[in-house]
Amino acid sequence: MTPVARVRAAAVRLGLPHLARTMEHHTAHAEAEAMSHLDFLDLVLAEELVAREERRFDAALRKARLPHHKTLDDFDFAFQPSLDEYEVRQLTDLAFVPARSNVALLGPPGVGKTHVAVALAISACRAGYTVAFTTIDDMARQLKGTTRLACDLSPYLRPDLLVIDEVGYQPFAHAEASLIFDVLSRRYDKGATILTSNRRFQDWVEVFGDEALTAAILDRLLHRCTVIEINGPSYRRRVT
Ligand code: ADP
Ligand code: MG
Repeated sequence: MTPVARVRAAAVRLGLPHLARTMEHHTAHAEAEAMSHLDFLDLVLAEELVAREERRFDAALRKARLPHHKTLDDFDFAFQPSLDEYEVRQLTDLAFVPARSNVALLGPPGVGKTHVAVALAISACRAGYTVAFTTIDDMARQLKGTTRLACDLSPYLRPDLLVIDEVGYQPFAHAEASLIFDVLSRRYDKGATILTSNRRFQDWVEVFGDEALTAAILDRLLHRCTVIEINGPSYRRRVT
């Protein structure tokens, strides 16, 4: 084996794929620049770390199953003056995730609730948190699919941040509502949740059916919660 082939094989076995791909480029560059041994190692390892971090971020994004990958850079705050840009940007510091508190985004269809929720979820993936995204209807369907005894809540309990999108488009039967309550009450103090809804909290009883259950859900959710109301035009129906 030539030294080049040997180093490449060792890099692959050590889990350094970026080095394996770029080593000849790097060695040529180091010779041309008469780089010191230390600078050379510094460069190679720093690049490998960047490449590894990108792979981790990509994997976290895939696992989160977001509906798209739009960030706040894609968000036109001027279009939505009722939304406090400063407050939204502050949330991207993600202090609410380790604090295990919640964010509720409320407003009519098309105002950007899902967009903002996704942008925060992407920031959380970037920061190394585990994230999962679901609509509340998908969550209810999944939970109902398993029998009550064997009911596996873990996909919704494990992530550091759970995004529950679209609360309010569909009312739930009691069994589903109570499974949703199980998730929220067991996440309480254990993980952060972002929730979006087209309904005001006082109308949630129409979604979850039961007064006491709705009160219990809101009690858990709102104990530590940043509530952001977006009251403005639908971006889907904007005139451009
Ligand atoms: P909601 O969840 O409130 O119904 P969405 O977040 O799905 O609304 O927004 C609808 C569409 O319009 C999405 O494609 C979203 O990216 C886009 N959008 C909404 N508001 C804005 C905005 N202020 N700037 C840029 N795109 C926006
Ligand atoms: Mg939405």
